[in-house]
Amino acid sequence: MEKHEQLYSGKAKSVYSTDDQNLLVMHFRNDTSAFDGKKVAQLDRKGMVNNKFNAFIMEKLTAAGIPTHFVKRLSDEESLVKRLQMIPVECVVRNIAAGSLCRRLGVKEGIDLNPPTFELFLKNDALGDPMINESHVRSFGWASEEQVAAMRELTFRVNDVLKQLFLGGDMLLVDFKLEFGLTAEGELVLGDEITPDGCRLWDKNTREKLDKDRFRQDLGNVVEAYEEVGRRLGIQL
Ligand code: ADP
Ligand code: UDP
Repeated sequence: MEKHEQLYSGKAKSVYSTDDQNLLVMHFRNDTSAFDGKKVAQLDRKGMVNNKFNAFIMEKLTAAGIPTHFVKRLSDEESLVKRLQMIPVECVVRNIAAGSLCRRLGVKEGIDLNPPTFELFLKNDALGDPMINESHVRSFGWASEEQVAAMRELTFRVNDVLKQLFLGGDMLLVDFKLEFGLTAEGELVLGDEITPDGCRLWDKNTREKLDKDRFRQDLGNVVEAYEEVGRRLGIQL
């Protein structure tokens, strides 16, 4: 697939057009960021690790009947995806309290959330990705009522699939963020990525952090932890 001009370069990935107007190349770079881009670094191998990790997870989700933008992995750092009109809303599910939930509600990190929570955030770095609700999404026209319901349903289905998958590697899926978009045919599908950059993953027994909190909290061995997650899932990195 011929890669044409760069359409967008975000904090961790760049997106290119291709010969086919409905397909894009997604390049996973080594750039890492946290706190809405205020903390940044280059981490060796991260682009490759996340691209291979994402491909593995997207294939698992496809096999479980969840529609995604993923077509195929092209190289170490690049994958082919369907071009989406992105819905500018991040869907977050939490199984265990951590991160912004603890800061916002003053709860202790590590408490079980039963049932899991579902939260929406506006994708807007300048505003610090503020939390929003379904009413905002509808009033501002970011998505329809049916689309919000579908995003919620798909997010919980992804949670069911991934919780089991990570548990198989003795890991707890604490929380994660998903983004959705519409294909040229108007189908709502999962977009963006699922990697340890956008999930919290803890060792089931020690609760050691194996995700981007290692970068946020300066715990070191960030990519090594991502590789450990991959090894436990049997991913060839
Ligand atoms: P950010 O924009 O948050 O800095 P990235 O560096 O990961 O994030 O950039 C990837 C961008 O590509 C994101 O804005 C994401 O919403 C967008 N994106 C993800 N999947 C698709 C897709 N299939 N079609 C179009 N845009 C996409
Ligand atoms: N997340 C993400 N991108 C964002 C915000 C959050 O991938 O812009 C992920 C984050 O890695 C975590 C989950 O969503 O797995 C919940 O994040 P939280 O709201 O706790 O915010 P944070 O602690 O990252 O500020």
